Amino acid sequence: MSNYQSPRGTQDVYGVNMSKWHAIEDLIRQFTHVYNVSEIRTPIFEHTEVFKREADSSDMVNKEMYTFTDFGGRSLTLRPEGTAGLIRSFVQNKLYTSPDLPVKFYYVGPNFRYERPQKGRMRIHHQFGVEYLGAKSPLVDAEVIQLGVSFLQAMGLKDLKVLINTLGDDESRSAYRQALKDHFASHLETMCPDCHRRFEQNPLRILDCKVDAQHDAMASAPAMSQYLNEESRAYFKEVLNILTSLDLTVEISDRLVRGLDYYTHTVFEVVSSNEDMGSQSTIFGGGRYDGLISYFGGPEMSGIGFGMGIERLMVAAEAEGIDLAQENPLDVYVMPLAKEYQHTAASLLAYIRSNGYRSDMDVQGRSLKAMFKTADRQKVSVLLFVGEEVNEGKVRVKHIPSNTQLDVSFDELIMQLDHWLNEDHDHSNCACQVSEEAK
Ligand SMILES: [Zn+2]
Ligand SMILES: [Zn+2]
Repeated sequence: MSNYQSPRGTQDVYGVNMSKWHAIEDLIRQFTHVYNVSEIRTPIFEHTEVFKREADSSDMVNKEMYTFTDFGGRSLTLRPEGTAGLIRSFVQNKLYTSPDLPVKFYYVGPNFRYERPQKGRMRIHHQFGVEYLGAKSPLVDAEVIQLGVSFLQAMGLKDLKVLINTLGDDESRSAYRQALKDHFASHLETMCPDCHRRFEQNPLRILDCKVDAQHDAMASAPAMSQYLNEESRAYFKEVLNILTSLDLTVEISDRLVRGLDYYTHTVFEVVSSNEDMGSQSTIFGGGRYDGLISYFGGPEMSGIGFGMGIERLMVAAEAEGIDLAQENPLDVYVMPLAKEYQHTAASLLAYIRSNGYRSDMDVQGRSLKAMFKTADRQKVSVLLFVGEEVNEGKVRVKHIPSNTQLDVSFDELIMQLDHWLNEDHDHSNCACQVSEEAK
């Protein structure tokens, strides 16, 4: 065994797994394209302050960040989540001046968190996130949720539950915060140390506590809905009405507060109801934030977004028996029949590739038998034998599915490949030399 091992909580992706990633990434591109959402790529590391906001009481910020000092003495942090860097960029580049709001971005990339690794939870995990910035409207909230859910449905996921809640505006939230403090004050003694910290910094997060989930005080805690002011109530109602008109079934979850402190109004989570998902059932979650853009020095603008863990998504697909693996068969395999034909083979290969056919050749001067085995493993459609025919400007080609073999001149080669491999090829007036059953 090699002395060099990948760090705990990381993985190498290649082969069949890579093809699953590509399937997901392709779908992300298709979806965001249709929804008129454009990609943004922000730095993998930012100044630590971008992620570590004074008021933030989340575990992520407190315990899980990969923070280091660079050679210039600056404190930098590998991004633990996608939103903060994106907002920093939105403000720094003055994208809020766009006449067309909301500005709609998506990102795909790695996040870094020092967590206990488990299935679907890695120290480097990848996220597909979407953020709509600069327009506050229930239509926007509904579109963001609908985009995410439709994406999962397009992947084939069925066991989905959409949970939604509102945290209201600042006024509603402070009233609720106070109510929670009043409620938990007398129970705090019997609750975990993290909850003591949350009690001071953000009592809403006590409702997220895994340790105290079964604590008596949880069930009897007041509900957000009792503390919503008129405006917050109306906003939420409108979001729900639009989701209904989009035929999206949602479940109101009064205890849904989400892990980050900057959320206001709509928060949501889409969970898998598949039994195999266990405690890792959340596929994506997000919410609206009112204070974040101004926090980074921008105007008082609102945004809403979600982050979806790609590794988690793969576990969910697997749990539902969805196979994302894509086969990548080879169109053409070039087989030089002797060393003296290698140069011609290489130039024919380049010519075939320049015409867009996925192709490869034997470069080791192996036996015919060994080359056939490779062709079999790579699920090749057309074999190209480069032998003595080249002296007459010809090569022997064999189409495996139709078991057709013939000699073609170099000039006819691409036409012949088109005939066999290109769906757009016009068979009605082609001059290819083929047997009828191949047509
Ligand atoms: Zn607790
Ligand atoms: Zn043809």
